[in-house]
Amino acid sequence: MQIILFGSPGVGKGTQAKILSTKFNIPHISTGDMLRQAVKDKTSLGVQAQAILNRGELVPDNIMIGLIKDTLQKPECKQGFILDGFPRTVPQVVALKDLFTELNINSVFLLAITADEEELVKRLTSRRACKQCGTIFTLSEIKNSKVCPVCNAENSFYQRDDDKEEVIRRRMEVFRSSTKPVLDYYEKNDKVIYINGSSPVEKVTEYILSAIK
Ligand code: AMP
Repeated sequence: MQIILFGSPGVGKGTQAKILSTKFNIPHISTGDMLRQAVKDKTSLGVQAQAILNRGELVPDNIMIGLIKDTLQKPECKQGFILDGFPRTVPQVVALKDLFTELNINSVFLLAITADEEELVKRLTSRRACKQCGTIFTLSEIKNSKVCPVCNAENSFYQRDDDKEEVIRRRMEVFRSSTKPVLDYYEKNDKVIYINGSSPVEKVTEYILSAIK
């Protein structure tokens, strides 16, 4: 099964992708996670990408297309995958279509998760992640605790640099100008399944599962 999860920053693509990846036993491919790992490892990609990520802008298409081509050709993607964060521009869609043709992939679910932008800004500014296990929490979930409830790491909560409000606003603008046209493109050429992302996580998973049944 091949799934593309589409939606604006903070809409829950990563959370849903992790759930679906476990359920269907197919890899979760998050271009954002790949870039953050590269930044952490100080690879040449990471060094190039860091300032772009911190500004909330997009890494150039040729770099992202190369990254996705290398990843989707790996044997672990043969049975399917969940794409989270790619494609984000029209040139990325075009390259992905060519790659799917090359890899003989002809049925893909495009799930567009939607929610109100101001609600997402609130969600993102209150988002914290555990440095050790990567689980995402809201401030109300962790309250004053200093211990991660998933992996028990101490003092491991942090706020992503790009989850500061001014960067979030820039990411939203970039979504509207560069990424939203991806959806217009898919609407013209393929079937888009809309999912209401304002509900609690479990409900959104239910909507997704019944949509792809
Ligand atoms: P995400 O975790 O998906 O919100 O991605 C975090 C950041 O990584 C984005 O704000 C971009 O700077 C960069 N990024 C992730 N995916 C892409 C992509 N497909 N094209 C360009 N930049 C990307």
